[in-house]
Amino acid sequence: MPDRSAVRVGGLELIALNDGLCKLPQDFYVGLDFAAHQEMLADDGRVHIPIGCFLLRTGGTTVLVDAGLGDVDVGWARGGDLPAALRAVGSKPEDVDIVVCSHLHIDHIGWLVSDGRPFFSNATVRYGRADWAQFVDAPGGESRTKEIMETLSSAGRLEPLDGDDISIAPGLTARHTPGHTLGHYGLVVSSGTDRALILGDAVECPLQLEEPDFYAMSDVDPDLAARTREALWRELEGSGALVTAAHFPGLQFGRVLGGKGRRYFSASVAPWQTQPQGPATSGGDASSEPAPAIE
Ligand SMILES: [Zn+2]
Repeated sequence: MPDRSAVRVGGLELIALNDGLCKLPQDFYVGLDFAAHQEMLADDGRVHIPIGCFLLRTGGTTVLVDAGLGDVDVGWARGGDLPAALRAVGSKPEDVDIVVCSHLHIDHIGWLVSDGRPFFSNATVRYGRADWAQFVDAPGGESRTKEIMETLSSAGRLEPLDGDDISIAPGLTARHTPGHTLGHYGLVVSSGTDRALILGDAVECPLQLEEPDFYAMSDVDPDLAARTREALWRELEGSGALVTAAHFPGLQFGRVLGGKGRRYFSASVAPWQTQPQGPATSGGDASSEPAPAIE
């Protein structure tokens, strides 16, 4: 799988970097008829998805959105590729000023701490405050998550997000998009008249546009997650804004198009290509380009 893709958003470049691969069982997607969607399945009968992180250098600030799974193999997923992917685009961990975590699931925070120390040695870490109670304070749960977040807390690195429309850096705003987790945030990149949305896990896969009733087993509040997705789709349809999410196949960027009673995702940039700068297409019933293969 390609480990990065990139798009231009006005005067900014937004780079998607892949930390590894999740291999999910079919029952992870609750309510999806796989008989009608064999294209979702890899040879092993599982759904293979990347572990996306996003790099934005804006106004002298380097921001990383999501921090992958880390250098581990947990059976259903393995990470480890983020440092090399960062290096390949000319950034080192110590260059990162801010890490924004869309939420506190382990595949979004894994690299925050390595060998007991903050891996991004100069970074402030932003995350939705509402996730702390469930993923750090509550008994049980993922012990690595607790360790990572408590290490950062002790190191004074955390700056939680509350509310909506929070400015993170020039051209980067956090939007509260609850449901997948209660403290889930999406990110809006804007420059000039261009916009791109990084939806974290608020949207698990582009097919949820056309078949809005299935959901990921990891959604903490599936009903709220569905309402959030619907609101996002309505806002995005025909807007010309680019959209991506942490686990979209090939970490592709695309647009939400409509027409003829159908709403769908049109992949506009294949992995490894930087989008040529130009006016955004919007609306209509443009035929989508072939989606890049997952693997
Ligand atoms: Zn995830």
